[in-house]
Amino acid sequence: MGSTTRDYYRILGLSRAASPDDIKKAFRRLARQYHPDLHSGAAKSEMERKFKELNEAYEVLSDPEKRKQYDQRSSSTAWSRSETHTKSRAKSDDFGFAGRQTQTGFGGGGFADFFENLFGEQRQSPPSGFNEQGEDVETTVEVSLRDVYWGVTKRVSLLEPAPCATCGGSGSLRGRICHACFGTGARAESRVIEVKIPAGIQDGTKMRVAGKGRPGGDGRKRGDLYLHVKIKPGKVFHREGDDLHAILPVWPWEAALGAEVTVPTLTQPVRVKIPPGSAAESKLRLKGKGLPTASGGQGDLLLTLQIIMPRVISDEARDLYRQLARQSHPDPRSEIIAKAQQD
Ligand SMILES: [Zn+2]
Repeated sequence: MGSTTRDYYRILGLSRAASPDDIKKAFRRLARQYHPDLHSGAAKSEMERKFKELNEAYEVLSDPEKRKQYDQRSSSTAWSRSETHTKSRAKSDDFGFAGRQTQTGFGGGGFADFFENLFGEQRQSPPSGFNEQGEDVETTVEVSLRDVYWGVTKRVSLLEPAPCATCGGSGSLRGRICHACFGTGARAESRVIEVKIPAGIQDGTKMRVAGKGRPGGDGRKRGDLYLHVKIKPGKVFHREGDDLHAILPVWPWEAALGAEVTVPTLTQPVRVKIPPGSAAESKLRLKGKGLPTASGGQGDLLLTLQIIMPRVISDEARDLYRQLARQSHPDPRSEIIAKAQQD
């Protein structure tokens, strides 16, 4: 589909009878909605596409001469669309839920109303006190296990609309669309706030930070900020509830004879005793070396012994292994041989 056949009125959510003022209002409202600066991730490219389409529609419909040409060129297709629209409306009347729409009259005025409602143009007149404050904002913050241990103050960067400095917020400059803000009169500005995250916070917690959302209009108070707290997995430790887990590599003789070794914790290394005769995969529990709990306690640190073999074996060690091999041992594979029958 070429750009000339796009339905610019539909993009702006307006009827063909829309006044220049309607067009300007609809454009500014939608441009604020779609402004790519205000989106991130997957939504951003979708918003960029919509925003581009919206600008194209506005460039044409805001210029009386271009609009006239466009109306003439597209009238045949557009009228057939209006007819379809009327038909479908008549159909919905049959089902009895179009009562409100019929009052808006013919010509797609219903679309404009629909957008008004959706994007809340009537926020300026709050009959119910519903929109007294600015919008809420959601964002994600990543914290490390160390942050969970101690608690942390995070700097969070938020984008919010601010009046465009180039056009002073009017959206136009010497009678043309301001290109700094694409005619929206607003630009996205980043604001950094500091948020205190308490020790012991759980992964996936949604924290409400009151009054840190978008500013409300006309001096109304700001909305709230909702912060999704995501805990980054550690390189050594992983978290299970309030406990921390880690793998502890040990030599075979340390496991067999017992040893006192230095192990890491989230704060600083500590000395622990490996009991003699420790089995591979057995766990050592270090009380209170985990994460703070909600009730003011402290989780544990669990170390799983992983017996590792030395890479280089000296002649002397080889002799010692030979001595070991001469002793009688149960076959360590008998269990898996038996179990293999059940697979
Ligand atoms: Zn501007």
